[in-house]
Amino acid sequence: MKPIDLRVKTRFIKKYHQHFPLISKDSISNPEVLKQEGAIVHLTEPSGKFIAKGYHGKQNKGLGWVLTHQQGEKIDFIFFKKKITTAMERRNSLFQDINTNAFRLFNGEGDGIGGLTIDYFDGFYLINWYSEGIYSFKDTVIRVLDEVADYKAIYEKKRFDTKGKYMDDDDFVKGERGEFPIIVKENGINYAVYLNDGAMVGIFLDQRNVRKAIRDKYAKGKHVLNTFSYTGAFSVAAALGGATKTTSVDLAKRSKSKTIEQFSVNGIDFEAQDIIVMDVFDYFRYALRKNLKFDMVILDPPSFARSKKRTFSTAKDYPSLIKDTIAITEKSGIIVASTNNASFGMKKFKGFIEKGFQETKTKYQILEEYSLPTDFRVDQSYPQGDYLKVIILKKLN
Ligand code: SAH
Repeated sequence: MKPIDLRVKTRFIKKYHQHFPLISKDSISNPEVLKQEGAIVHLTEPSGKFIAKGYHGKQNKGLGWVLTHQQGEKIDFIFFKKKITTAMERRNSLFQDINTNAFRLFNGEGDGIGGLTIDYFDGFYLINWYSEGIYSFKDTVIRVLDEVADYKAIYEKKRFDTKGKYMDDDDFVKGERGEFPIIVKENGINYAVYLNDGAMVGIFLDQRNVRKAIRDKYAKGKHVLNTFSYTGAFSVAAALGGATKTTSVDLAKRSKSKTIEQFSVNGIDFEAQDIIVMDVFDYFRYALRKNLKFDMVILDPPSFARSKKRTFSTAKDYPSLIKDTIAITEKSGIIVASTNNASFGMKKFKGFIEKGFQETKTKYQILEEYSLPTDFRVDQSYPQGDYLKVIILKKLN
């Protein structure tokens, strides 16, 4: 099939020459020529001069991703193999690490192919397809893995709309089916992982360094409150780091049995921990009423959440979340404030924290900052991909 010419509007030409990877809707003057997802496209100047080659795949505000700036380079098996093997070589130290066998193997545009991520879980490969366009390359990607990866099995998550089409919820692709949970290791911590049980697998790999810091530097002797705790991954790290007690709070009913499981696979007595199914905002009020104070509070909300009572958005509500937290944190206590909202950067995030402290006339000191670990490789021309922001701070009064 002949590549489709996409005309780049004049004011965006420089950006694409400087290797901006996302083909954005607003930068193209003839988007109507796009029909079939997965089609190869050429970005061209209005004069027709070639800028870059990519594929069409609808993902949020994107029409697709740039794959190469060399006109002669084909998007074929060799192309995918080169990108995936390079990505594997970059993770060599993680493959060698005897204490860690769960990490991101391929991170979208950071590894040269936007819309595609591959996570590694102790020999199991989990592919995330972010558009129908990238999904059309499935056979090629699987063939590459057949050739270069020594896998137990491949699973996949289709993270795109299939226009009402019935979606089989079996994510198994190939190999020998796993028996879930599989127990993976991260810096010596065990985590139970389910690859065939919905969109989320039980652990968010991008917080690896933060979990390690909590265990190794902050948790000892503390009563830790973990809000929006999901499967309690941070609570487990804190307990292993010597926390006197952890309290995990999440709205989802499933979170309780999942958290019990994560404690249990690490030999921690879950009955000595508190695992509470409750709206975090109700819990703040409960804790205030009961005069509860914590030595350390972890805040890792979803970017956006809707519950029966309210909607919450980190971009709007983080300052008030910080204020609620300050009220139940001991003097000299630690707050771990995290967000994965890609719509604002570190500077703005620090502003939200500052606002919460100012409005409560409380002082604090930032101890550490974290962003994505190196396996979540970021394309320098696309800082929006660097979404994770974590601030560890000490409340001073
Ligand atoms: N911190 C977790 C990941 C959080 S994912 C980790 O490191 O593994 C977001 C979680 O927030 C989900 O489990 C969801 O159930 C929960 N959640 C969303 N809104 C909530 C609310 N208002 N109160 C409590 N939990 C909430």
